[in-house]
Amino acid sequence: MSESDQIELKEILSKHTKVGELFRETDDGRVECYACGHRCKIGEGKDGICKIRFNRGEKLYVPWGYVSSLALDPIEKKPFFHAMPGSTAMSFGMLGCDFHCSFCQNWITSQTLRDPHSISSIEIISPEEIIALAKKHGAQVVTSTYNEPLITSEWAVEVFKLAKRNKFITSYVSNGNGTPEVIEYLSPWLDLFKIDLKGFNDKKYRELGGVLHNVLETIKLAYKKKFWIEIVTLIVPDFNDTEEELKDIAEFIKSVSPEIPWHVTAFHGDYKMDNVRYTPVEKIVRAVEIGYAAGLHYVYAGNIPGGARNYENTNCYRCGECLIERQGFRVIKNRLKEGGCAKCGSLIPGFWKNLQS
Ligand code: SF4
Repeated sequence: MSESDQIELKEILSKHTKVGELFRETDDGRVECYACGHRCKIGEGKDGICKIRFNRGEKLYVPWGYVSSLALDPIEKKPFFHAMPGSTAMSFGMLGCDFHCSFCQNWITSQTLRDPHSISSIEIISPEEIIALAKKHGAQVVTSTYNEPLITSEWAVEVFKLAKRNKFITSYVSNGNGTPEVIEYLSPWLDLFKIDLKGFNDKKYRELGGVLHNVLETIKLAYKKKFWIEIVTLIVPDFNDTEEELKDIAEFIKSVSPEIPWHVTAFHGDYKMDNVRYTPVEKIVRAVEIGYAAGLHYVYAGNIPGGARNYENTNCYRCGECLIERQGFRVIKNRLKEGGCAKCGSLIPGFWKNLQS
């Protein structure tokens, strides 16, 4: 995208905004945004780090009334493995991100206005239209994804309010750079929260544009607030794949709850790292084993359909019975009985309620 295209897109985006709710005015005439952990203090006429929230007239303007992507995805793709297996998620995304990961798999939408190679457009849409499409296609879940949802939370909540009135499950696919304020704001409207834990090394997190502490605190708080959370670590060769780091991640998750599912997914070359080798299958298998050895109850291999033993399946933690058999995003068999094991009756943690029935 040329510089003039970027300026044009920025002008278009600035028209699809409204005064946000996740900010406060500071004593020195700036506004402090608390939609994400960066807590930008933004002066008049300036943008936040994400470049899509900005200060005009001591008010914070935030994205509103559009999508950059809208698609129907299996819920397993988000990924949620402990929420309505086999259901479809109406997935919408806006533009922008508060991170700049060099291995981003959604960089076309997330890095708009930051990277001239990212070419994006938007479509004007209302929450009514999104929900009508979700109904028409038989979705049970409505998901904010593709860009970082925390930074467009006002719009997500507007869509989710209508989704909830129409008995949809709602979800976020997020990098977890949250704040207590945004978690509180989402609390009445959000059911499922996928959070990335991209490593356990703060220095490397800062290379991505984040802070490890913020993500850990968001996970702890999201769990306390009773969102259904699943954690994803994309295993990137030579970035976060040492035994020690994987063990640290697994032990942290266990300290919050051993029942939180941990997905360890294989990296494939993308964005600025398209020349980096794929994560070997053995590394993913080892990561799953590290998760189980640390005491987690549900650890899943991702991005290698059928290639990592049976580590895509959900087994009863108590009796070992295979309850949900998967290959990639496909559910092959589901023997879950009212959220419990068909053999021994133990409850399997998750969000198993179909709100529409
Ligand atoms: S969402 Fe995050 S990056 Fe964007 S303005 Fe707010 S605090 Fe800054």
